[in-house]
Amino acid sequence: MFDLVLKNGNLITMNNNDEILYNKDLFIKDGKIVAIKETSNKNKLDCKKKYDVTHKYLLPGFINTHTHIFQTLLRGIGADLNVWDWFETALDENVSNLKKEHCFISAKLGAMESIKSGTTTILDFNYPHPTGFLVDECFDAFSSVGIRSIVARAIIDQGKAHPKIINDSEKEINDCIRLLEKYHQNDNDMQHVWLAPYTIFSTSLQTYKRIVKLANEFDTSVTIHASTPSTIEESKALYGMNDIEFQYSQNLLANNVLAAHCTTDIDKSVLDILKKCDVKISHNPASNCYLGEGIAPIAEMLDHGLTVGLGTDGPASNNNHDMIFIIKLTALLQKVKYLKPEAISAETVLRLATIEGAKCVGLEKIIGSLEIGKKADISIFDLSSLNTVTMHDPIKSIVYSSNQNNVSDVIINGKFILKRREFLEQNENDIIATAQSLGEDLVKNLEVS
Ligand SMILES: [Zn+2]
Repeated sequence: MFDLVLKNGNLITMNNNDEILYNKDLFIKDGKIVAIKETSNKNKLDCKKKYDVTHKYLLPGFINTHTHIFQTLLRGIGADLNVWDWFETALDENVSNLKKEHCFISAKLGAMESIKSGTTTILDFNYPHPTGFLVDECFDAFSSVGIRSIVARAIIDQGKAHPKIINDSEKEINDCIRLLEKYHQNDNDMQHVWLAPYTIFSTSLQTYKRIVKLANEFDTSVTIHASTPSTIEESKALYGMNDIEFQYSQNLLANNVLAAHCTTDIDKSVLDILKKCDVKISHNPASNCYLGEGIAPIAEMLDHGLTVGLGTDGPASNNNHDMIFIIKLTALLQKVKYLKPEAISAETVLRLATIEGAKCVGLEKIIGSLEIGKKADISIFDLSSLNTVTMHDPIKSIVYSSNQNNVSDVIINGKFILKRREFLEQNENDIIATAQSLGEDLVKNLEVS
């Protein structure tokens, strides 16, 4: 007996052959895709539930490889300031005031916003630790919404950049171990714990080395902000070389490292290092624009054989969690960067948002494509709306014409989370009202906003 059949859908599979399968019934059992068959009335036998998806397009859910979920309460704070003033205004002051209730509601609302734009897995680079147990609030919120989550527990323990949010290394490492033991790979692969040196200048070298060792012991991964104007400037001042070269010189780069941004100083020698170490890249085009950090050379990275995924970055530098916007921006910016429309294709960008993103977070065996045996993390697109008709090619329509209103339904781990654009288990209006109130509470003592 199957749990659910999605009847008569068109499947944009993102499998190795980039197949689009038309008029198929997709069967789900125990959270996984267990069969894909030609549509037929006979297929309704042996199914607890069926859902008609005629004329709709089923995609593997998007994988957001980099955000800071607490910034959901900080949209627009520090806008249009230079990056160092933005750090101080938008982040440090507020991070040091975060309480449990801020972290819970920001994660809850951010997860719901993500799902409405078709995202089913989110990587939260989490660095608000003024008091204990704030990461637990994020996991609780993600779990209550039903999104698949990776929380990368970050450590800031040195430097002049973030004086108000520096914490004691020993205490922080102990909390990493606690979180790994409590949450990593828990709950049917819905929760994962990673570790995150914040940048090469805000995390001490000694702590970074301990983080790498700990990640290997727990068979997990590491993510870091890298190769931005600020990380390069500070790395050159501290270590006399850019941050990727420095990490390489210290044996800190490996195939379980995800580098976020990589907009600047990415010449051939740096690409060679990233390729040699099989470092994964999280591309965050909206944030890179917002903070004036440049356009990452994604087309060259792909030519070089690197694995690249997409991310929104935090809503203090984007200012949302809309992966559909990120998908279109990725395509457009590469065309502008190289002054060539053929610099990157819609098909390639959609792969970055799905199966390549899954590789970036080390979960390509369980998510990222619609294939038998994989988790049923599925976004359903209705492309019969004013902004998408006339629809000639579903992939080009999703990448260049669609917006989040085209996401009609979202299934995560085999369960409907969003149905006909309504959350089945969340009161959206109550959560919006609470988030507005707690966001105002968080910034009430801020001098500049
Ligand atoms: Zn970031």
